[in-house]
Amino acid sequence: STNTAWAQWHQKTFNVMGTRAHVEFWLNDTANAPRLATDYIQLVEQEMQRIDAAMSPYIESSELSRINQEAAKHPVQISAELYQLIKTALDVSILSQGAFDITYASVGYHYNYRKHQKPSEAQISKSLTAIDYQAIKLNSKEQSIQFDKTDVKIDLGGIAKGHAVKNCLAILKNNGVEHALVSAGGDTGLLGDRRGRPWHVGIKHPRAEQKTAVHLPLNDEAISTSGDYERYFIQDGVRYHHIINPKTGDSARKVVSVSIIGKDPTYVDALSTAVFVKGLVDGMTLINKLPEFEAIIIDNQQTMHVSRGLQQN
Ligand code: ADP
Ligand code: MG
Ligand code: MG
Repeated sequence: STNTAWAQWHQKTFNVMGTRAHVEFWLNDTANAPRLATDYIQLVEQEMQRIDAAMSPYIESSELSRINQEAAKHPVQISAELYQLIKTALDVSILSQGAFDITYASVGYHYNYRKHQKPSEAQISKSLTAIDYQAIKLNSKEQSIQFDKTDVKIDLGGIAKGHAVKNCLAILKNNGVEHALVSAGGDTGLLGDRRGRPWHVGIKHPRAEQKTAVHLPLNDEAISTSGDYERYFIQDGVRYHHIINPKTGDSARKVVSVSIIGKDPTYVDALSTAVFVKGLVDGMTLINKLPEFEAIIIDNQQTMHVSRGLQQN
């Protein structure tokens, strides 16, 4: 019956990495399905917490904090996981010509959206030279990282949630799950379809919290949305939000929402932030050059634009 079928979907929503996370998956109706469901949900939650503990800038003992405390002074040995993720971040920096840059934090850490605080002009110009992904030196033999400029700080907020989603989907898949959705904030990853039908992922309306701008039917893909409405405050009519243009140290304001679709949750996360910074013209040009990614961009007039692969006819 429909009831039994519904019971085979298992889900949980929880708080982690400063946002809401959600996991949802199908298990065949067997005697031990309820126990397995509890186990898998726990594995997913623990994985997200583990990643947060390693990569949060707010946890002083995190591996990321240790890098920020020491890498300007001497090489710091890091885990293979962090090494690889930083390498991916640098790859997207090169792809996006610096629009995605984890050293944005050199200025970015001076913003406090909750307290409506932004860095002064003087502070920005002082820290702006430290925004430079090319100052990050990775040594693959030593598995180490070093900054060759002082005052460089890194932050993985634009890529860590995609990485977490990717790992959680892999955990579910390794346990034999074939239909799953994992999301963390604006980052969603899908395993398989929703049993004969597509998953439907909504993109929020950027200026009406309860509304959805568009619903996308998707299978076996990842989608990441970057918006200027997630963490922001308005001062003197100007919106200060959490996506920073590395060239200016100010919030990026060319568009209001960017969604990227592709197979790799880590890349779509970083690319959504990158395209947000680049804006409609340059951002769309970049995505149209990358056959494995598509984009949905909402501009400042709230007009929606889609990349070539999403255009009908
Ligand atoms: P969300 O945090 O909702 O997943 P994004 O994926 O767009 O949204 O990531 C935004 C986060 O990325 C910011 O909160 C910040 O941690 C980080 N960030 C901001 N500007 C940049 C940038 N230019 N390059 C890389 N990371 C950035
Ligand atoms: Mg991102
Ligand atoms: Mg993200």
